[in-house]
This record gives sequence, structure tokens and C-alpha cells, in this order.
Amino acid sequence: MRRIGIVGAGQAGLVLGIGLRQLGYDVTVFAERSAQDVRAGRLISNQCLFAPALERERELGINFWDADAPPVREVAFAAAGEGAEPAIAWRVGLDRPAQSVDQRVKVSDWMGEFDRLGGELRIRRVGPDELDECAREFELLVVAAGRGPQFDSLFPRDDERSTYREPQRAIGIFYVAGKIDAVPGLTFGMSHVGEFFLLPVLSVHGSVHGLGFFGVPGGPMDVWDGVADVEQHYETARKLLRAHYPWQAALLDEARPVASADLLHGRITPVVRRPVGTLPSGRKVLAMGDTAVTNDPIGGQGANMAARAARAYQEAIVERGDRPFDEEFMHDAFARYWQHARPATRFNNDLLAPPPEHVLATLDTAQHVPEVAHRFAHLFENPADYEGWLGDPEAAMQYLRATGLR
Ligand SMILES: Cc1cc2nc3c(=O)[nH]c(=O)nc-3n(C[C@H](O)[C@H](O)[C@H](O)COP(=O)(O)OP(=O)(O)OC[C@H]3O[C@@H](n4cnc5c(N)ncnc54)[C@H](O)[C@@H]3O)c2cc1C
Repeated sequence: MRRIGIVGAGQAGLVLGIGLRQLGYDVTVFAERSAQDVRAGRLISNQCLFAPALERERELGINFWDADAPPVREVAFAAAGEGAEPAIAWRVGLDRPAQSVDQRVKVSDWMGEFDRLGGELRIRRVGPDELDECAREFELLVVAAGRGPQFDSLFPRDDERSTYREPQRAIGIFYVAGKIDAVPGLTFGMSHVGEFFLLPVLSVHGSVHGLGFFGVPGGPMDVWDGVADVEQHYETARKLLRAHYPWQAALLDEARPVASADLLHGRITPVVRRPVGTLPSGRKVLAMGDTAVTNDPIGGQGANMAARAARAYQEAIVERGDRPFDEEFMHDAFARYWQHARPATRFNNDLLAPPPEHVLATLDTAQHVPEVAHRFAHLFENPADYEGWLGDPEAAMQYLRATGLR
């Protein structure tokens, strides 16, 4: 059977690796850390997966946590106004629940599953200089090593497809447990200085909530650089809620941080890269997941996109039959993925910009017209709806006028 190598054991690499292994491909995954180290390590993400990505995991039979993971059934949105109450507030049900399972749980369990299926797992970091030596062994080498600059020169920025050159948010998330007064789902708060979200998560410590803040750089929510430990993070989070989301001021009063490793601070530069890299030997390698397209987590798209990439790449590999995995194949595989990644990236990037008039009007109308709230909330699982609707001011206003309220 054809030999495929995958660098990186994350949401993208493992879903592809397991899917191909189930079809009998000879697959090797290079994982930076062992399953035990991942499970015992620091928080990786907040990983809310919406229905289409969950469907892919269910098709592969790797949805090991459906019985335990708290379902994300609703989306509650609120935008800060002048006073203590939000200027806009609405909540709506999701047609199919979303779910967040700690990536430390998922990755470690999936590494075990990949091994059980006869895949070869090598615990080894493969740096850019070692790719050529690696690529020699395989007919196709996929680089699914997450975000960051390590493969910058191999997969350079695609200037036409990349909107930003700098991080657009200062991010701080942590896990809390205790009594939390929130909808059974995703709570999203917006203000002109940044956003916050709250989400139930099945973590390595059981059922918790993930609370994340996204501060506009240089503004009053850009506060994480000096925060050293989880207690300081907890106090900072309470201050941010009181100052910028006063209707949520008491949210953490009866909740406590879960563990010292369950926090994450940082800034992410959104980028779309050229997906086909050329190694010094002339061999080609294909980027996948965050290595190919990195988004800010504000729109909760990255892990969902990684699952889509795994499906698109697997389909392209299977359709290739016995023909070589050449450059043309690689561009074709990425093009399949980009059909989904393009609207998801645009939706996500637009969320980082100050909301234009038609978006504010839509969020406002959603308070009175449940169909508008429903459509907005489902953009997270179906960003393809964005381009012809909210991404187009004229179409968005026309849609609102049809509701009779504008
Ligand atoms: C704070 C935060 C919140 C988020 N919330 C959401 C959300 O709600 N919904 C959502 O869809 N997405 C979310 N994301 C994004 C999501 O986590 C990522 O987009 C997703 O994990 C990307 O998957 P991946 O497999 O491409 O990369 P990763 O998950 O980063 O996996 C890459 C793997 O490769 C390994 N690796 C790296 N370098 C090497 C190397 N040289 N050799 C070998 N192995 C290597 C890494 O250790 C890692 O295990 C969030 C991200 C953050 C930071």
C-alpha cells in the first residue's frame, strides 16, 4: 500500500492518519510529544467543534467522548452598551449541538487509536532541516505541525489570500469549574475593546468551562503579558468582566481555576500560506491544518477547518489511485480544502475588524427575529453562508428589509 508520512499529531494530522490507516494505507505520524506528555501538558486550545466536523469524527468512529462531553446546544450573544446592561442580547438554539473536548484528551486518545490500527507513531520533532531526510521514505509527506514560524520559508505567506500582517487580538484563556450561571452552550460577549467567550468543555479534569478573552492590541483588554500564574489570571478575568461586560460581573464568583497548566496566553497572526513547499532535494511537501491556514481563534474555526482539511486531503489521496503525489496533486488537494477554508477565513478575519453598520443592524435585528439569530449562530458551523449574506453589505441589508423590521 502507498506510504504516507505526516508531521504533526494534532486535529489535522491524526484525523487524516486514522482515516487513511482505516483504508489500509501505510501511514507514519511524527509526533513531537508522547500521548502521556500531551495529556499531562499545558492547555492547547478551546476547540469548539461544530456539527460538520463532529460528523467526520463520527464517520471514522473516533468520537470517543459523545457520552461525556457537555453538548453545546445554544449560542447566547451580547454586545456592551453605555450602561450595565448589554445594548444587544439574544440567544438561540443550534440545530445540531456542538462540542468541545480538550485537545489533550483527543490527541492522546487518538494517538492510541492510530497505534491500535497499526499506524507507525514516531515520537520525534521533525524540524525544517530534517524534512528532506524524512520525505525520502514516503510517497507523500504532509506537514500538519500547527501554527508558528518554523516552516515560514518552506510555506511562505500568500499575500493575496492573507488579510493581516500582525496579531489582531491579545488572547487569554483558562479553564474554570464551579457554579457558573450560563446557557448550555456558547456565550459570546462583544465590546469595542475586545470579546469574551464561555464554553462548556470536557477536559482532562472532567467537565469544566473554558473562558477566553480577545483584547484589541494596545487596548484595555491587552493585559496578559505580565500574568504569570492561574490565580493572577483568575483575578484579571474577573476585572475584565466587571469593566467591559458588567452584566457578567458575577460570572466567576462561585467558580475557581481548574489547574495551574490550564491557561494559555498569546497572540496569533492570521495567515494563509502557499501550501506546496520545495525541499533542498527538489522533493515537494504539502502543508495542512494550521500550517497551511492559521486563523485567530475568535471565530472558533481552526480545529473545524483542520477536520475539513483531513477529509479533503483524504479524498484527494484516494482519488489519486496509483498515480504520483506530485505538485499538481498537492495543489488540487489544497484547492479542495480551500473551497471551505476561504469563506471560513474571510468570516473569521472580518470578526477581527470593527463591525460595520450592516453587521450591527443584523445583530440588533436578531433580538426580534429568531430566524436572523439562527442564521448568524449557524455561520460558525457553516461559514459558506457568509460570503453571499453578511459578507455582502447590500445582500445583508436586503435580507433585513425582508424581515419587515428594517
Ligand atoms: C486559545 C485558542 C482557542 C481555540 N479555540 C478554537 C475553537 O473553539 N474552535 C476551533 O475550531 N479551533 C479553535 N482553535 C484553533 C485550533 O486549536 C487549531 O486551529 C487546531 O488545533 C489546528 O490543528 P492542527 O492539527 O493543524 O495543529 P495543532 O493542533 O497545533 O497540531 C500540530 C501538532 O504538531 C506538533 N508539532 C509541531 N511542530 C512539530 C514538528 N516540527 N515535528 C513534529 N510535530 C510537531 C505539535 O506538537 C502538535 O501536536 C483555538 C486555538 C487557540 C490557541
